[in-house]
Amino acid sequence: MQILDLTLDQLTGRLNQTFGKGRFHATALYREIFKSGNPNFFESKEFTSSPAFTRQLKHKINLTPGQVVETFKENNLTKFITKLSDGEKIESVIIPMTNHQTLCVSSQVGCKMGCRFCETGRMGFKRNLKIFEITGQLFNARFTLKEKIKNIVFMGMGEPFDNFDPVIQAIRIMNEQKGFDIALRHITVSTSGLINGIEKLAGMDMPGLRLAISINAADDKTRSWLMPVNKTIPLISLKKALQSFPLTKRGCFLFEYILIKGLNDSQKDAIRLADYIKPLPVRLNLIPCNPVNGFNYESPCDADMHKFAQTLTNKGIFVIKRWTRGQSVAAGCGQLGQKC
Ligand code: SF4
Repeated sequence: MQILDLTLDQLTGRLNQTFGKGRFHATALYREIFKSGNPNFFESKEFTSSPAFTRQLKHKINLTPGQVVETFKENNLTKFITKLSDGEKIESVIIPMTNHQTLCVSSQVGCKMGCRFCETGRMGFKRNLKIFEITGQLFNARFTLKEKIKNIVFMGMGEPFDNFDPVIQAIRIMNEQKGFDIALRHITVSTSGLINGIEKLAGMDMPGLRLAISINAADDKTRSWLMPVNKTIPLISLKKALQSFPLTKRGCFLFEYILIKGLNDSQKDAIRLADYIKPLPVRLNLIPCNPVNGFNYESPCDADMHKFAQTLTNKGIFVIKRWTRGQSVAAGCGQLGQKC
């Protein structure tokens, strides 16, 4: 039984099926592992009182979040590399915010989407992550690296909607109140624009879960060049899917726009982007382009970024300029998968 795969209800069901035990032991086990990161759960009072059951249970439980083999630091930002049981490696980033830490998790080893500005895209696709390999990143961040993680963003390696079911199950586990206890409104899933994923998510009961779109251009020609997914799912189809998405009251989409000098940073680009966004409730993150091997572009200067942002603000768009962090350890946006 891979414990990092299970919600509390599912664990209760398994204990019931296999041992005839119920919620009492499931809650205790969940608390020890997901709240305290204690692999020696059998030492807690609920288990010491039933030694025969505990002996059997110990042999059934697998707790394998993956091995953290390397960490890189830049100020308070940490990138860590996890080695999985088949030897593949994935990267996760812990980003310091004002009052808490955000964990950026991976959902695949590599990625099929081939975005030009992204190192992971250049790696190609190796495989999907399993549920426990996704929740394992949070387990390791909290209990191996001892970081206080309050937010999760699915913006690491991979396209989360290309590994839909395991990602959704991992979110349910992260959200479990008696375990990791991360509120849905503190979890963001970022997609390159896979509308079947957006539509599937729209039909699920996950109120508050945040949806981010990596947009990067508001004309099909530039976006298709930057992000091949746009050739089959053009901007108009993406917009339609977003317009039908059931946001909560006061909810909004997060759009991410990587500013690339001479490619998508003109005043014309800003106006086109504002027009595309206009009917949608959007918070727009502007991100300067990070250096990526084989992508010979750079970010515009601060003054040009400011001008771009101002044009959008003047058109009523809520804009946040994100300063670049983690470049020196290749943990910036689009850089995961690079050697440091
Ligand atoms: S930006 Fe995201 S979707 Fe695009 S290649 Fe990189 S990991 Fe994949």
